[in-house]
Amino acid sequence: MSGDESQKKVFDAEAASLVVNELRGSFTSGTTRSYEWRVSQVKALLKLVADNEEQITDALRSDLDKPPLETVVYEIGMLKNSCEVTLKELKHWMTPEKVKTSIAVFPSTAEIVPEPLGVVLVISAWNYPFLLSLDPVVGAIAAGNAVVLKPSEIAPATSSLLAKLLEKYMDNSSIRVVEGAVEETTALLQQKWDKIFYTGNGRVGRIVMTAAAKNLTPVVLELGGKSPVVVDSNINLQVAARRIISGKWGLNNGQACISPDYVITTKDYAPKLVDALKTELENFYGKNPLESKDLSRIVNSNHFARLTKLLEDDKVSDKIVYGGEKDESKLRIAPTILLDVPQDSLVMGEEIFGPLLPIITVEKLEESIDVINSGTKPLAAYLFTTDNKFKEQFVTTVSAGGVLVNDTVLHLVVHTLPFGGVGESGMGAYHGKFSFDAFTHKKSVLYRGFTGDASIRYPPYTNTKLRL
Ligand code: NAD
Repeated sequence: MSGDESQKKVFDAEAASLVVNELRGSFTSGTTRSYEWRVSQVKALLKLVADNEEQITDALRSDLDKPPLETVVYEIGMLKNSCEVTLKELKHWMTPEKVKTSIAVFPSTAEIVPEPLGVVLVISAWNYPFLLSLDPVVGAIAAGNAVVLKPSEIAPATSSLLAKLLEKYMDNSSIRVVEGAVEETTALLQQKWDKIFYTGNGRVGRIVMTAAAKNLTPVVLELGGKSPVVVDSNINLQVAARRIISGKWGLNNGQACISPDYVITTKDYAPKLVDALKTELENFYGKNPLESKDLSRIVNSNHFARLTKLLEDDKVSDKIVYGGEKDESKLRIAPTILLDVPQDSLVMGEEIFGPLLPIITVEKLEESIDVINSGTKPLAAYLFTTDNKFKEQFVTTVSAGGVLVNDTVLHLVVHTLPFGGVGESGMGAYHGKFSFDAFTHKKSVLYRGFTGDASIRYPPYTNTKLRL
């Protein structure tokens, strides 16, 4: 360790407390509440992106070897869209909503006044390290809060770029980045926040919620789970195969929270589905997908080892019908399909978060609903069918953060839909107006004058009053 490094001050609870106090001072001064400040900061984010697209793409190449097109569409494009929707709608979102009052309080008027919460913490994950850091920050700023962002240490190039760019482009009296891992996050979690927005796995989600409970701090937990894809036999198979591939491997090589985790189809239809997936996979990634520039690598050697263990499980080692190749030196795993995987295999026991796609077969497709509902509630559930009755049954009986029929992943880009989980896949939601709401208190305000002062409410509580 160099002299400089050994002198580097650790970010402990005391340092965290200093940051929170500074931001609280700024929040209390009222700076962040004005419409003008909120707009200026969302515009600053747009400028940050416009000026630095290449650096952002390079950072994601470094962290995940993420193909630039995926970065431009899913990380940069989605963030820009969030900012643009916010700029267009913010005035409307901030306007108090007049509501009817009740006869009991006649005469009066009432409104719901959106109020910023205060100083909020955003903790983000490594798989979409740019978008998942800044998208919640857009909501926090739009709602008029001061915010600390803690990006993921597992995507270090993006984390340090975020720290550098937010310092340069944003108002540092109210918006800060704290880089670091468990130690730094623990120091942050020891502080009193007005909201904590966490994206990541459920184990840490529990740690976050426990820390928040000490101060009765509300949380949004954006977690994951095993998102199923149910495939009927009455579909356009080629289109379905392409859409499953796009959602699975075209999304960070399976390292995405709403990536299809496993497929359920009938025994009869499974061979046709596998053939279609193989054909389209080869069309997209060629005969040697380990060399494809269009697939992200596995983020690090820990995750590579975890995925290898899932593949080497005795219960599935003879179930691989496509792929299975790996290159540890380059942290690459090829798109891999496993057919007729038993429910008690390792790959079915946890969220895969990688390029392995197990297929479970059932006699009748209706059984898929029981298979899904017997597990924890997923973040997304996908169904490919043209049978309207089954569609309706699926939408009403499958509990998931979101359901998408005849496609994968794209519900994520519809800003009028809330994005969030249910049960083990999370709590709370964001995107579009839901992001603003996630960081806003809806304050009830009732206005009265001095007329209508009915005596019934005042003692003495006579029998006459009781009979009124
Ligand atoms: P990660 O390892 O980057 O962890 C997330 C954050 O938690 C990081 O900032 C990290 O520093 C912090 N952290 C880790 N250990 C901690 C501890 N002991 N105490 C306090 N903080 C700690 O990301 P991950 O959890 O591997 O992310 C993958 C998971 O996130 C998957 O389950 C995925 O489905 C889920 N995810 C959900 C969404 C969503 O929007 N719902 C998006 C992306 C990922």
